[in-house]
Amino acid sequence: MARLRALSRLASVFTTPRSPEDFLRLVDPLASARQLRAVVTAVEPETADSVTIRFRPGRGWNAHAAGQWARIGVEIDGVRHWRSYSLSTAAGQDPAITVSAMGKVSTALVRGTRPGDVLFLAPPEGDFVLPEHPRPLLMLTAGSGLTPVMSMIRTLVPRRPDADLVLVHSSRSPEEALFAEELLELADQFPSFRLVQWFTGERGRRLDLASTSDLETACPDWRDRAAYACGPADFLDAAESLWQREEGQLRV
Ligand SMILES: Cc1cc2nc3c(=O)[nH]c(=O)nc-3n(C[C@H](O)[C@H](O)[C@H](O)COP(=O)(O)OP(=O)(O)OC[C@H]3O[C@@H](n4cnc5c(N)ncnc54)[C@H](O)[C@@H]3O)c2cc1C
Repeated sequence: MARLRALSRLASVFTTPRSPEDFLRLVDPLASARQLRAVVTAVEPETADSVTIRFRPGRGWNAHAAGQWARIGVEIDGVRHWRSYSLSTAAGQDPAITVSAMGKVSTALVRGTRPGDVLFLAPPEGDFVLPEHPRPLLMLTAGSGLTPVMSMIRTLVPRRPDADLVLVHSSRSPEEALFAEELLELADQFPSFRLVQWFTGERGRRLDLASTSDLETACPDWRDRAAYACGPADFLDAAESLWQREEGQLRV
């Protein structure tokens, strides 16, 4: 340790008036003690309005559990804005977020992010995670609400052939459905995973959670499954009311 301090003192002789850390930061954008940062390693298109952004976080990041989210800081015109994004990769894999362009920050992320960019971030958080002991599961998602559930599916389905998971996902059209091809492949490959895509454009109406009839069609044994829901506020409100009326348990 004393040797390290002596080296640092020596380095500062050559770098004064700046500290050695200032120069280190120029080479390594993740070397900031104050604010956790990440370097974008890849940007992959998902749909016309959404991308997956893969990144390599610096020190201070904790590996994410499937279903967790992180606060991401983005600088737009010199002002740092913070938004929350679910981590869409499987637990144990390098992190990524999947962002759909909606407003100020998400549009900047989707249209303007390039490999090598620096993101500000906070460590993963949230308890919307997979149950410890697998039991039959029903995942009910709409729009970008699929992202945390995608992390759960990617974590559980290929590793646990005994898992029993039904995903009912609502989106406007096949073109707007996130991860559509990968989900089809998983459903094809793993009999323990069943996929129900609910395209509101094709059906002419949204998944109706005011009564149980759409659920009975999409997943007849829904009452026997631990249910998770993620999506826009009105979708979650409808799901919560239905499960309350039916005296079931739902995680949102
Ligand atoms: C735990 C958590 C996880 C999340 N995970 C994801 C994820 O994985 N992927 C993802 O894409 N999003 C996710 N979100 C949502 C995300 O945090 C942002 O809220 C979203 O990207 C919108 O931020 P924005 O800055 O682009 O929109 P904002 O500019 O903040 O606008 C928010 C909404 O208001 C509307 N709006 C904006 N300005 C106006 C106006 N003047 N008049 C009327 N309407 C207006 C926008 O169209 C938009 O619908 C998550 C949110 C939470 C809380």
